[in-house]
Amino acid sequence: MKATEIAALLDEPACAHNAKEKSGCAKPKPGATAGGCAFDGAQIALLPIADVAHIVHGPIACAGSSWDNRGTRTTGPTLFKIGMTTDLTEQDVIMGRGEKRLFHAIKQAIDDHSPAAVFVYSTCVTALIGDDFEATCKAAAERFGVPVVPVDAAGFYGTKNLGNRLGGEAMFKYVIGSREPDPVPESAQRPGIKVHAINLIGEYNIAGEFFHVAPLFDELGLRILSTLSGDARFREVQTMHRAEATMVVCAKALLNVARKLKENYGVPFFEGSFYGVRDMSQALRDFAKLLNDPDLTARTEALIVREEAKSHAALEPWRARLKGKRVLLYTGGVKSWSIVSALQDLGMEVVATGTKKSTEEDKARIREIMGPDAKMIDDGSPKALLGAYKDLRADILIAGGRNLYMALKSRIPFLDINQEREFAYAGYAGMPELARQLALTIENPVWAAVRKPAPWAREKAAGQPIT
Ligand code: SF4
Repeated sequence: MKATEIAALLDEPACAHNAKEKSGCAKPKPGATAGGCAFDGAQIALLPIADVAHIVHGPIACAGSSWDNRGTRTTGPTLFKIGMTTDLTEQDVIMGRGEKRLFHAIKQAIDDHSPAAVFVYSTCVTALIGDDFEATCKAAAERFGVPVVPVDAAGFYGTKNLGNRLGGEAMFKYVIGSREPDPVPESAQRPGIKVHAINLIGEYNIAGEFFHVAPLFDELGLRILSTLSGDARFREVQTMHRAEATMVVCAKALLNVARKLKENYGVPFFEGSFYGVRDMSQALRDFAKLLNDPDLTARTEALIVREEAKSHAALEPWRARLKGKRVLLYTGGVKSWSIVSALQDLGMEVVATGTKKSTEEDKARIREIMGPDAKMIDDGSPKALLGAYKDLRADILIAGGRNLYMALKSRIPFLDINQEREFAYAGYAGMPELARQLALTIENPVWAAVRKPAPWAREKAAGQPIT
């Protein structure tokens, strides 16, 4: 990949900070790779495409450190769960065998698994030794008659966020627009209702949470042409250019794809979230508004009234238990405001929120929701987080899996909200699950037990012999 292409991706014009002042993305600081490299970002963005063979072209550790670290679920093929790598060794590098090994790896993947397509991810080593992996992918596609997509996202190109975009670029360059959608299947037709085709970009079906939301789209006659990339199939991604509207579910990752769909195919997009009752309703309203269909708007409002009533009833018992509890939220950034509003829906008080990766627009929204004095934390180091937890008298830390052991060692209640989470929190049905997990975590008797001095320490303090 040329340096100019990488620079262009870092200047994504659809990002709010670039619209205001041409500042580009923040330069990575030392330690930024703790959040994952560009290869990791590209693979994590595309891995949920379930019927594709994902081959990591590089040393085995690259595949090992990134494989399936998002607990994404599928309703069909599980091919994406099989970790594939060319497993390059020092000898392969010295003898220049990289391209040969890649060609054989593609052949093996096709022979053994008959995938809908093969995605090949470059890594630092294969980029540095100068493997022409794009030419190898092209030759393999011609030889085996299966699409082989090169994803040029070597780790050293930059951060994980850049990698997300590089993955999106590969989809736009090689996949989207390469097939027309099938006619609306009978199962998706609704008598008297106009069916609209939509895309969801940045939806990863973590812990199967999109299963909470998909039936609502079905009911409204919103046909999901494709998601990028939760529970997606290759042939669905090929048709994304024919959608009438796109929702960008995660603000930064893959924003470039939404923008290019708009510029090249006239597909409008909006940014939204499925977390929290308010945001879920807003997402449905935004679709109806963008599609400009009065009948859809009326049906959407009726569905919102029904679902909100159901969700409020389901949340009632939890609200009483969670009301007034103080939360320190450190999501690592993207869409912190969305989780803030979900917690406020439960009557909880968010004492501070992490904004390390948030845009200025995200921060403005947080201030709008939490008030002008909203405390935002940029420093996600264990020391800073624990300090804030103590100073702000929080009852629970909600953060990503990387903070799990820090929290447990400090004996403070912790809930994983990021990509490794085990529970489905999206949609109206996700809120009672979030409330349940919050209550179970805060009320768990283990916290009182582990905070008590050990029996031997008590005996020692009382001057009694330790038996
Ligand atoms: S691509 Fe590079 S930075 Fe990323 S895991 Fe592999 S060697 Fe490490």
